[in-house]
Amino acid sequence: MNNEEKTLVLIKPDGVKRGLIGQIIARIEQRGLKIVSLEMVWARPEQVDNHYPKSREWIERIGQKTAENYEKYGLDLKKELGLEDPYQIGLEVRKWLIEYMTSGPMVKAVVSGNHAIEMIRQLAGSTMPAQAQIGTIRGDFSIDDAARANREKRAIRNIIHASETPEEAANELNLWASAEDVFDYHLPAEEVM
Ligand code: ATP
Ligand code: MG
Repeated sequence: MNNEEKTLVLIKPDGVKRGLIGQIIARIEQRGLKIVSLEMVWARPEQVDNHYPKSREWIERIGQKTAENYEKYGLDLKKELGLEDPYQIGLEVRKWLIEYMTSGPMVKAVVSGNHAIEMIRQLAGSTMPAQAQIGTIRGDFSIDDAARANREKRAIRNIIHASETPEEAANELNLWASAEDVFDYHLPAEEVM
């Protein structure tokens, strides 16, 4: 079965400003995945608004992650954030996300390979840096958590974005990558790996 997939990676503004572009790209190549498009972009707010899903389900899920993080550390949601409803929290986080992703340039890459979507998610690690496994990009390079980010009214700084599902990848590639900037070429390593 051929599971060749393409996925979108964004090195977020904190990753770029911290000088991590090379190390992140190296990890992708080391895994055996292929960079088929690469560019630095400074996103406009509308682009980021279209990038993250607008469905109630996604927004609630983001809020839910915050709620779980607060509970894990015994923090009072209502007291700390002034909000309790996952949807309302999610809406707030989504606003902060747009500010974060437009706060500096990002590096945009299209990555292709066998199971590329799942593999890049593994390389990236858990959304919450404090929970991300050592060996993942987030686990090795970041330390932020939801409570601290929310207290400072900003998104979690976690260095990289990676499409989560085939549907997300299709939408994101459509949004960020025009066909003429995505290149088809052969790596000799494809024969041996
Ligand atoms: P990404 O989509 O950026 O690859 P992800 O899929 O791991 O990350 P999502 O649930 O899609 O995580 O959340 C998108 C981004 O929103 C996160 O990467 C993070 O920067 C930010 N974020 C998520 N939850 C919170 C939160 N509770 N508080 C602040 N920021 C958050
Ligand atoms: Mg996501």
